[in-house]
Amino acid sequence: MISYQRGMHKSLLNAANDLIIKFRIQEATGLNLSDAVMLLEDLIDLQAINLTERPKFLETKKRALFLPHCSRKFMDNRCRANFEPSIPTYVCQHCSEDCIVNKTVEYAKGKGYDVYIVPGGSCIPRILKNNSYEGIVGVACGEESKMMGHMLASMNVSGQAVPLIKNGCANTMFNMDTIKKTL
Ligand code: SF4
Repeated sequence: MISYQRGMHKSLLNAANDLIIKFRIQEATGLNLSDAVMLLEDLIDLQAINLTERPKFLETKKRALFLPHCSRKFMDNRCRANFEPSIPTYVCQHCSEDCIVNKTVEYAKGKGYDVYIVPGGSCIPRILKNNSYEGIVGVACGEESKMMGHMLASMNVSGQAVPLIKNGCANTMFNMDTIKKTL
C-alpha cells in the first residue's frame, strides 16, 4: 500500500509539473514557475504523508491540535486571547463568533483534543516534551509541515497536517471542513 502510494506520488509530481507548465499556473497565481511547482509538490508531499500516517493516527488516544496564531481574526489587541508563555500558547477568550480559530477551538475541544494556538512551529517541541501526546494535528504552511513531520517521526508521535489555504504573516486561512474530517 505504502509503496503503491510512493509510486503514485512520484507520477503525480511529474503530472503536476506538466500541468503547471501547460496551464501556465505561474501566470495565473503570480508565482514564478519554480514556486508554483514547489507549492504543489508541498501539498502532494503533505497529503502522501497524511495518507501513510492515517491508520496509525486513528489508533491514537491522547491528541492535540496546533493552530497558527496568524489565523486569528485580529492580530492586534482586538484579539482578547491571553498569551501563556510558560506553555507557550494563546488562550482564546471567544471574543468573536466568526473567528475561525474560535470556531475550531470549540469544535476540537468537543472532540477531546487539547488545543494550542502557537506563534510558530518552534513552540511545538517544547509542548510535546511536556505532554505525552500520541497523535497531533497541525495547521501549517508546507515548509513548517515538513519540519514538523521530521520532528514527529523522531518522537514517535503520529501526525496529520492541514495545509493553510492562504499563507502569510497575518490573516492566514485554513479550511474548517478539512479540520473536521481530519480530527
Ligand atoms: S475569538 Fe479568540 S482567537 Fe479569535 S480574535 Fe477573539 S480571542 Fe482572538
